[in-house]
Amino acid sequence: MRRFILAGVVFFAQSLFAQAAVTVIHADRILDGRGGMLRNATVVVEGSKIVRIDTTRARRPAADYELGTLTLLPGLIDAHSHLAWYFNRAGRLHTDDDGDTPAQSILSAAGNAYTTLLAGFTTVQSPGSPEDKDLRDWIASGALPGPRVLTSLEPLSDAKLSPDSLRQLVRDRKKEGADLIKIFASKSIREGGAATMSAEQLAAMCGEAKALGLRTLVHAHSAEAMQRSSNAGCTQIEHGVFATDTVLVDMARRGMFFDPQCGLVFHNYLDNRAKYEGIGNYNAEGFAAMERAIPLAQAAFRRAMLIPNLKVVFGTDAVAGAHGRNAEEMECRVKQGRQSPMKVIISATSLAAEALGMGKVIGSIAPGYEADIIAVEGDPTADITALQRVRFVMKAGRVYTVLPRK
Ligand SMILES: [Zn+2]
Repeated sequence: MRRFILAGVVFFAQSLFAQAAVTVIHADRILDGRGGMLRNATVVVEGSKIVRIDTTRARRPAADYELGTLTLLPGLIDAHSHLAWYFNRAGRLHTDDDGDTPAQSILSAAGNAYTTLLAGFTTVQSPGSPEDKDLRDWIASGALPGPRVLTSLEPLSDAKLSPDSLRQLVRDRKKEGADLIKIFASKSIREGGAATMSAEQLAAMCGEAKALGLRTLVHAHSAEAMQRSSNAGCTQIEHGVFATDTVLVDMARRGMFFDPQCGLVFHNYLDNRAKYEGIGNYNAEGFAAMERAIPLAQAAFRRAMLIPNLKVVFGTDAVAGAHGRNAEEMECRVKQGRQSPMKVIISATSLAAEALGMGKVIGSIAPGYEADIIAVEGDPTADITALQRVRFVMKAGRVYTVLPRK
């Protein structure tokens, strides 16, 4: 009942907003996404953008949303999420031949998008699936609730192709509307993570993408695969379970982004083992490899924390079962990865925005930025689990949820 009343409040507020186009939000604590904290501040939103942040009591306009002791911060960004992955109604990982119709699949993806938005993630990057394109466009049109989606569409993974063919695939993705290029440069962790693409193949893909103005996200576990990607001038490396200091220092020197995972992706697979087991490389060997990878991944994360100037971005690799739980990865980064809560928050806001090439558009609470604003219960700089208690979500000036305190 209470939920219905609050939904009504949101609807009413949105109708007001449609007339006035100005929304005023006040909270006791505001994190700007760049490491700054304001106390007792008001954010003024006009249309889709933040126009003013007001900390002087006298000039403060009356708030449309009085958030009290909640902490307000930029909408979170997940640099690696697979919204198209879901469990079918038989309780198994969806595969192309499980009998689900394209309509059922896209509805599942839309559900994942909504769940992710309500968890405070207002932007995700998907590396990637062809069906992301329509999902991205429908959300962008305002017809569906969900995070802003950037997608690679179909990843480039065939190491048997020539450098010329791979270059052509990069151009094809660009034509198809990809926002970035996703490349598999090593095997899955379930198959040992060894390098697959050669230096020449990586140079061809990352070089062609750069020439077309597209970023490159490279799946790489072995240090060799990571080093080849770094040498090839790729933009960002995903996973890196076998990262060495040498390759991490090299990535830092080149200004590359690193997106290692600490816990959620592994624990989600293990928690949902019965739903994955028996499909592709989700077999006994694959699960054993993932269990062995957990301490290695956490050690690689801690090592990355010690490399000066290495840009460690927040990405969960959320797959079926993990959507909406994205912030659990933050807890692992603090507790097992020894990253400070403020650094984790920056990695999922302003730094993630920079990694997406949107550093001047999203990821900060500052005038001129898109009004992607969330509020959480508690102080996430003291207790990172506060980011799992999202009570307010605004994306591009539109309020999607206002929930009561639990
Ligand atoms: Zn992934």
